[in-house]
Amino acid sequence: MAKYRGPVCKLCRREGEKLFLKGERCFTPKCAFERRGYPPGLHGKGAQFRRRRESDFNRQLRAKQKARRIYGVRERQFRRYYDVSLKRRGLTGLNLIQILETRLDNVVYRLGYADSRAQARLLVTHGHFSVNGRRSDVPSMLLSPGDQVSVREGSIKRPYFKELRSVAEVKNPPDWLSRDLSNLSGSVIRLPERSEIDGNLNEQLIVEFYSR
Ligand code: SF4
Repeated sequence: MAKYRGPVCKLCRREGEKLFLKGERCFTPKCAFERRGYPPGLHGKGAQFRRRRESDFNRQLRAKQKARRIYGVRERQFRRYYDVSLKRRGLTGLNLIQILETRLDNVVYRLGYADSRAQARLLVTHGHFSVNGRRSDVPSMLLSPGDQVSVREGSIKRPYFKELRSVAEVKNPPDWLSRDLSNLSGSVIRLPERSEIDGNLNEQLIVEFYSR
């Protein structure tokens, strides 16, 4: 499936909830979901009043699509993550979410070094971060406990990173990550627990979707 290049706010309206894909804007009255909280399309406005019985398949599909959209992962990659999570020990759904959370772009976002996952992805692809001292421009890189992420020395002088300390200061990283603002770095302490992952995800439905 090709990369989605359309308006991202439509994705929130389609899912019927705020997915917080645009950083700061999501917390302002400019948020499209606040202004038009009904599905996109010609008949979207009427759809909010129509009461339709939702099939199991539809619920599973929507749960999967929502997770994909929150983390910005394409279908093929997402399916691959599911296959990996099946092979890992423990609960498949939790494994899947842990894989998504330990992507490099998500870790950069969780550390507070980007406003949204989309921005984190861009910063990573532009080569501003290194993992364990080595430049990495692959947003999908999966990190493990002990891995260290830092802003590269050449990038620290850029205006965005100069201001980043004060911006990131007000954002608290989750407990499974540690952050050192003085040198704009952070590391993965352990894998996240289910209670530490927000985003209103239903991993059970995702597992059901793929195990049909
Ligand atoms: Fe979704 Fe953010 Fe757009 Fe609001 S501003 S609709 S939360 S992406």
